[in-house]
This record gives sequence, structure tokens and C-alpha cells, in this order.
Amino acid sequence: MPARDAYDAVIVGGGHNGLVAAAYLAQAGRSVVVLERLEGPGGAAVSTRPFPGVDARLSRYSYLISLLPRTIVDDLGLRLALRKRSVSSYTPVERAGGPTGLLVGAGSDMAERTRASFARLTGGDRAHEAWLAFYARTQRVAQRVFPTLTEPLPTRAELRRRIDDEDAWRMLFEEPIGAAIEEHFEDDLIRGVVLTDALIGTFASAHDPSLLQNRCFLYHVIGGGTGDWDVPVGGMGAFTDALAEAARAAGAEIATGHDAMLIETDGRSAEVTYRTAHGEGTVAARHVLAGTSPQELATLLGEQPPAPAEGAQLKVNMLLERLPRLRDSAVDPREAFAGTFHIAEGYDALARAHAEADSGTLPTAPPSEIYCHSLTDPTILDPALAERGCHTLTLFGLHTPARLFRHDNTGVRERLLSATLAQLNAHLAEPIEDCLARDADGRPCIEAKSPLDLERDLRLPGGHIFHGDLSFPWATDGADPWGVATGHVNVLLCGAGAVRGGGVSGIGGHNAAMAVLGR
Ligand SMILES: Cc1cc2nc3c(=O)[nH]c(=O)nc-3n(C[C@H](O)[C@H](O)[C@H](O)COP(=O)(O)OP(=O)(O)OC[C@H]3O[C@@H](n4cnc5c(N)ncnc54)[C@H](O)[C@@H]3O)c2cc1C
Repeated sequence: MPARDAYDAVIVGGGHNGLVAAAYLAQAGRSVVVLERLEGPGGAAVSTRPFPGVDARLSRYSYLISLLPRTIVDDLGLRLALRKRSVSSYTPVERAGGPTGLLVGAGSDMAERTRASFARLTGGDRAHEAWLAFYARTQRVAQRVFPTLTEPLPTRAELRRRIDDEDAWRMLFEEPIGAAIEEHFEDDLIRGVVLTDALIGTFASAHDPSLLQNRCFLYHVIGGGTGDWDVPVGGMGAFTDALAEAARAAGAEIATGHDAMLIETDGRSAEVTYRTAHGEGTVAARHVLAGTSPQELATLLGEQPPAPAEGAQLKVNMLLERLPRLRDSAVDPREAFAGTFHIAEGYDALARAHAEADSGTLPTAPPSEIYCHSLTDPTILDPALAERGCHTLTLFGLHTPARLFRHDNTGVRERLLSATLAQLNAHLAEPIEDCLARDADGRPCIEAKSPLDLERDLRLPGGHIFHGDLSFPWATDGADPWGVATGHVNVLLCGAGAVRGGGVSGIGGHNAAMAVLGR
């Protein structure tokens, strides 16, 4: 890249949203360069081989796709295969009669197994019927809200009219989601399973008056108009690769190893100064699109950062020699781990963990959920590993805010990891540690990332997986129809921090590109 050049748009941050914006703009004939500080694009949507000498390509951070609109895949001509999981979730629990659990299948094939599982847990069909009614309602909302995410923002009143269901409106947008969960479900375990969708990447309680948990819940149940979470075949890296290919094919340049340090703008044109291993350079453009967090953007502009964000999750990647056996012998581990396997996520347990973390201590029983990618898509494993029965396992822990790690990141991460694995082991017939594969140096194949690790590796502020708190999908400022504006007319947010931008969706990138193109 020449030291100074004029582009229509410089995109700072080559996460998947930056790549989506680049591809749309380049396809519309605009000249575009993406500056990404890391050695490869993708940000939190990448695959890596984290264990030396082991050919297992794990989705290192994000792993499932729900919020990516089909229109983005089609418009950009992406070669991307998504596969449905056969099981939606399994939640083990100790009850008076011994180990048992709740298996929720995906699709009609599993309908009877799911009903029977609810009956086994609760002794009747009422809980299952309540479940079906609750999710039929969220699905109707999903069908009405999801298509709006790639349109100019509706007002709150327009969205309410569009949803046209006052009970659903009250439970999702007005009252803390805990009220609806307690109204619909009696069983603590079932309540907990429902609540987890409100807590992924979000540190809040079921009754938080901020409704932060409702916003998180909404984005977890509206994806694709169904709320299904699907497996990207080949891992998240396959998605990012397809995006980078589409952007390059349309003429965009992707400059990796380019760390932006400064953005200067007069509203009509802008300059971005960056650093590489070889020195510094400047690139000029009409527009700057920031795929970085709003915090990082403020720093680059030399402005006061917005309210600090804070992530609260533990992320663990593992490679196993074999799936562990379960204490609940009624369920095959290949089913239990194919969906989201909930651990210590009963409703009361989640409330306790939140209260402990909020008062400054690690949860005694850290809640988490795990899932096995390679059961649905073995292509991420070298065939020899797959033949040996190896499997990947990815764990996402909740309710451990970044502040708990600030004084001793390594020590707290290690303590949290062993407490989290102990909660998992309570439901296994053999400890997970015995099932771990070994890398080329004989070390167990397990890596853990705290919010501070993600802050350092990905520049997620406070390790927040959505760059900041999620927003409801309506306009708060009539002058910003796409939810991407900043204080400068030619500098736009195109990442997860845009309104409706969180998750692997490409929506932040799409909407920023639409704003530039004046659509
Ligand atoms: C552990 C984890 C698990 C998750 N699981 C899921 C999941 O399963 N499904 C889901 O939908 N979502 C999930 N998410 C959330 C999702 O991954 C993110 O919301 C999404 O990837 C954000 O994409 P983005 O392109 O907006 O930003 P990012 O992916 O954060 O990319 C931003 C890019 O900007 C670069 N950058 C930052 N500053 C600069 C600079 N100054 N100069 C140059 N480059 C810079 C960064 O290096 C990075 O590559 C998860 C996130 C994490 C962390």
C-alpha cells in the first residue's frame, strides 16, 4: 500500500463485520482498504490450531451462527455451509432419584424424545406445553423483528406495531425477562435453561431493571426468524475466509499487520495513521468505517471513550481423545454434547453466581455451557484424529466479570478453570481431565481465555464479546437511520458496537455500507 493514497473508504478492523462492509462497498465499485492489526482477518470469528502439532482447527472464540441474514450470504455470493444440530440442549441435574437431565431436541424428529424428557424431569406434560407455547411466541416475534435488522431502524412504536402482540411486547421489551420466565415455568432447571440466553456475554440478573438481559435474550432468540444456532461447516474460519475472498474478489485490499493509531477527520475526508512491523504510514479516504469497539474508536480519534464495557465470560477450548461418559445413563454422550450442555445453570444457581460475582468473588459453582463442534461437523479434524474418536469441546462460562481478574489474571483464571471443570465433572462418570488429548509436547489440549485475555488478544474492551452492551433494535436518533453514526459525519461504526451489530451477523458491516452508499 502506498504511504498516502485516496480511497473511498478505510475500514479499521478486519473482523467479520469489517470484511462484510468491505465486500459490499467494493462490490458497489468503491475503493476500499481494510487495516487489521493482527496477522489474519476475522477478529473473534476465526479458526486456529491452538495445540502444537495437533491438526484440529477450532473456532477459537465464537462458534455458532444464528444472526447472519441469508441476504448477506446471497448478496456477497459467500460459499458458506451451515449445519443444523440434532440436539438443541442437554442439561444434567441430580434429583432425588439420582442423575437425570433435560434433553431438548431440534426439529420434528426429536419432538417425542423431547416431550418424554420433560415428562421424566417434571412428572407430566405441563412444562413441555409451556415451553412450546413460550418459544412459539418468541418465534413469532423473531419472524417480525429479524427482517428489520438489515433495514433502516424502525422507531420503538413502529416495532411494537409490527410485532402486534402486546403480551410478547411486555415480556420482552418492558418487564425484566425474569418475570416472564417465572410466569411460564415452575421448574428451577427449566427456568435456568431459558434464562441462559439472556446472559451469554452479559453480566446481569434475571430482574435487572436495565433490561440488559432482555436485549441479550432478544438477540439469542430472533436469529434467522427461528432463533436456531447453527454450526458453520469448517468452523468460524471458513466463514471469515469466504468473506475475505468475496471482499478481495470485488477489489478490496486487506492489509493485515496494520495497527491503526490515529484517525483525523474534517468531516469531508479523513486520514488514518497506522503502524506495521516496518514503520508507520498514513492512508487518506472519504470515509472511515470502524470495525473496532466504540472505545477503541474514541481512542483513535483522541476523544473521551464512552462508558466502559466489561465482559464476564470464560472461554475454554479442548480437544478430547474420547467423549466422556455421563452419570445420566439415559442419554448418549454423542447426543448430550451435540447441543448446548448446560452446567450449574439452574435458575437459583445463576442468581447465586451473579450475586457472588457482583460482590467481588468468583462464583462458588461457576455456570457454563459446552458444546462439541466435531459431532456435527468432523471436517475440522484431521481424518486420523476423527478416526481415533477425538472430539473438540468448547466451553463458555458465565458471570465472571473482568474486574475479578484485574489483580491476578493468571491465578484467577486457573482457579476459575478448575472450579468450572469440577462442576462439569459432577455430571460425568469419568473426569474430563482423563479424556483430554495431548499435544506434540505431551501437554493436555486445553486453553482458557479470561475477559482480560480477550481484551489483550482482540482489543475487546474489558473482554466484552459484543464490544459493549447490546441495544434494542430501534432508532434513538432520527438522524442515524442505520445505527452506525459517530460524532463525525464521515466516520461510522461498522462492528459489533453498532446498534444491532453484536454477534456473528455481518449486520454492523452491512448497515454501515448501506449508510455510505446512501441506501
Ligand atoms: C469467546 C467468544 C465467543 C463468542 N461466541 C459467539 C457465538 O458463538 N456466536 C455469535 O454470534 N457470536 C459470538 N461471539 C460474539 C461475536 O464473535 C462478536 O460479536 C463478533 O465477532 C464481532 O465481530 P466484529 O467484526 O464486529 O468485531 P471483532 O471480531 O472484534 O473484530 C474487530 C477487529 O478489529 C481489530 N482491531 C481493533 N483495533 C484495531 C486497530 N487499532 N487497528 C487495526 N485493527 C484493529 C481487531 O484485531 C479485530 O480483528 C463470541 C465472542 C467471543 C469473544
